[in-house]
Amino acid sequence: MVCCKRFKDRVCVVTGGARGIGAAIAYRLGLEGCGVAIIDIDGEAAKYRFENLEKNGIEATYVKADVSAEDEVTKAMEGIHSRYGSIDVLINNAGIGFSGRELENQSYDEWRRVIDVNLTGVWLCSKYAVKYMKRSGGVIVNIASTRALQSEPNTEPYSASKGGLVALTHAMAISLAKYRIRVVSVSPGWIDTSEWQVPPRRPSLTLLDNLWHPAGRVGRPEDIAAIVAFLASDEAEWITGINIVVDGGVTSKMVYMDESLIFASLEVLLQDEELVELIKTIVERSREEGASVKNRLRSIFGIGNG
Ligand code: NAD
Repeated sequence: MVCCKRFKDRVCVVTGGARGIGAAIAYRLGLEGCGVAIIDIDGEAAKYRFENLEKNGIEATYVKADVSAEDEVTKAMEGIHSRYGSIDVLINNAGIGFSGRELENQSYDEWRRVIDVNLTGVWLCSKYAVKYMKRSGGVIVNIASTRALQSEPNTEPYSASKGGLVALTHAMAISLAKYRIRVVSVSPGWIDTSEWQVPPRRPSLTLLDNLWHPAGRVGRPEDIAAIVAFLASDEAEWITGINIVVDGGVTSKMVYMDESLIFASLEVLLQDEELVELIKTIVERSREEGASVKNRLRSIFGIGNG
């Protein structure tokens, strides 16, 4: 719930703010009184988001630019600064995923593009925003990922870019402290962004997707927007240089299957809630009777020990 105008008279730049997590951050900071400038490579989507922000009474602007192109970033920051007279908060959120090919089949171009956008883009946007921020201090929040800390197979460029981003965060925090600029990173876990896409979509999550999280559900862009708003506010003035994991508890969890997850997996596999309930009942009754599930099934179907 948004309670106040913590960012009245402040200006924030949100990269990749046209959709997904960045859009939720732009909206949240805007609701709290910030002037919001979106930088996004997708001009159409950025226009859509800008119109949506304006409709909600938020002072906003947008620039179509690629965060990995130095000339575009310089121009974007210059333009935003000349429009508003300051840049107080920078949210480095723009990022791209990776196709998931095996290491031997990963191309140099793919590797370079992911590193260029997810890591070099943050360095570039910070470099050119700091020029304006250092006059009166500010905050940079980098959106990293739990992939900086743990991996699935075949994710090298993405994981490396986010690991680099966590390191870039503490490096900049120490260098920029003298200008009263704080730098932090947030590492989201799985965030379902469907409702913040352009146009919005309905989430299609399974019971297993939700139950597998200790917090009981997959994350939402609003979960990340809430922590970003806190970190960007004066209430967080003693927080800099760190990475905060916001993942519904997943990275803290030992990976063991428990019964509720097994039944939720069955539901995904069988696509039949009633059938899963039936299996659950057979398991429970067998337990009550001290019989094995196998023997109980044999007796139901009249199959001998064969
Ligand atoms: P998204 O794809 O929904 O939105 C990303 C936005 O960034 C888009 O509007 C896109 O046009 C823009 N963008 C992409 N490349 C750009 C570039 N070169 N220059 C400028 N804008 C560019 O993504 P999302 O899921 O909202 O992710 C946002 C950030 O959060 C990313 O950095 C991502 O790595 C990170 N993240 C996402 C999740 C998740 O589960 N969604 C989890 C962990 C981290």
